[in-house]
Amino acid sequence: MAVDDKAPTSHLPDILLPWVSARPDAPALLTPPGDGRTVLTWSRLLAEAAAARDRFIGAGLQPGDRIILIAPSCPEFVAEFFGAQAAGLVVVAVNPLSTSREIDYLLEDSGARLIVAHPSRAEAGRTSAKAAGVAYRLIDAVPSDGPEIRPDDRGDVDFTVVERSHDDLAALLYTSGTTGHPKGAMLTVGNLLATVDIVGEITAVGPDDHWATGLPLFHVFGLVTVTLSSLRAGVPVTLFPRWDPRTFVEALTADRVTIVSGVPTMWMSVLAEAADSPAPTLRAVSSGGAAISADVLRRFEERYAAPVVEGYGLTETSAVGTFNPLHGIRKVGSVGHAVPRMDVKVVDLDGNDAAPGEPGEVCLRGPAVMRGYWNRPEATAEVLDDDGWFRTGDIGKLDEDGYLFIVDRMKDLIIHGGYNVYPREVEEVLYEIPGVREAAVVGTPDDRYGQQVTAVIARSEGSQLDAAEVERVTREELAAYKIPRIIEFIDELPKGPSGKILKRALVSTPNGS
Ligand code: AMP
Repeated sequence: MAVDDKAPTSHLPDILLPWVSARPDAPALLTPPGDGRTVLTWSRLLAEAAAARDRFIGAGLQPGDRIILIAPSCPEFVAEFFGAQAAGLVVVAVNPLSTSREIDYLLEDSGARLIVAHPSRAEAGRTSAKAAGVAYRLIDAVPSDGPEIRPDDRGDVDFTVVERSHDDLAALLYTSGTTGHPKGAMLTVGNLLATVDIVGEITAVGPDDHWATGLPLFHVFGLVTVTLSSLRAGVPVTLFPRWDPRTFVEALTADRVTIVSGVPTMWMSVLAEAADSPAPTLRAVSSGGAAISADVLRRFEERYAAPVVEGYGLTETSAVGTFNPLHGIRKVGSVGHAVPRMDVKVVDLDGNDAAPGEPGEVCLRGPAVMRGYWNRPEATAEVLDDDGWFRTGDIGKLDEDGYLFIVDRMKDLIIHGGYNVYPREVEEVLYEIPGVREAAVVGTPDDRYGQQVTAVIARSEGSQLDAAEVERVTREELAAYKIPRIIEFIDELPKGPSGKILKRALVSTPNGS
């Protein structure tokens, strides 16, 4: 049966319909293999989303209202997301590890009228809802034998109840951007639909694929670039409520996974902890969110015989921007060229286009770029210009072929005695030293030089690596002003919600204490 999955649509939930008709009983969303596994078929996903929609409408919510969704990555999250979209609501997806204080802030800033929380996060959600006097509901676990919407009795079930245009908001995803407090990036229905189609094009993902991701669903990379894009193409996704490299590699074989997406720290933990695990069906590894070191990329490709392709994007651009083509020229160390329908440029301090090879601020433009920051016209004006260019706050350079190389985050740049030190360059060298499992380079305050280059390293298990050896290698490989003068060893580097290393936490306490 031919499935018209490319039909244009104004509704996010519509992306499910062709697959509900074509393959109602095939899995759409799965939790990791093992006891208590949840497998949601396409028809069940639609039924659960319709039930969620009815609960939202029953609670008196109106189109455009914001709801806070607090849940780990699980099928129920996705059903609630589609239910909210069908009811015309705006989803504020929140890290399930957030404290009540953090939830209070998001509640107040977004003006959400309802908190929907997974049972594992019941307490924090309830406390904030009560304090703010807003409604609160627990997410029901998806029952193993609930009602289904089948193609035969679905008839003309009008799944979408609220008319929406591409300009309507679909989600507010909080990010600190380049500065200050977390701000809600306003992602529209049109942003998300454009993104899933862009991702479909660059991954050539099709119904014979199976995607797996350890990314959290409250982050745009996990929610949109992977899960929504996968569902759009009729591809099942295995989700991991908790990141565990061993379970992840077990799923690769058990689910015959063909494509995986994640951040570099995930690939590093797979390399460190799951040496004996094959993945015969794997055809592509998409990496993003932070720079992957050339060494980690090479080792991962060697082990799994699948290309690791690096992409680049931000919450503000629905996580798309540039991508290394799967079947074209890939440049290791580059985050690729602009994805279809997006433009990339690099500008100097005066806003003029930088010459090829010259570093400057990376700017992105296109249908995946957010409408702005929620209720923050000034912060929006700082990053979005009248021509639709979004200033990313990242320093990068374009080569003659239009491939982008991210040099560093503008705010991570270290200035040591007047010299610019890009931490990433130093980290590349550190990752080549045997015994380095994870490393981050930050600038710490220094009376004489302004900032001191400081390396914080987590050793591989059993490694005796010491500061003298790190110093010896870096001295051989780097100019004197780039050599870390302070070298700290800690057990584990602090990570943000999507697995990125949190440099800010290291700047305040380089020794992790
Ligand atoms: P977020 O909004 O959490 O997705 O973070 C976006 C930021 O992650 C970007 O501004 C970059 O600094 C960083 N980033 C994303 N992808 C990459 C990549 N492939 N290489 C280097 N940095 C990246």
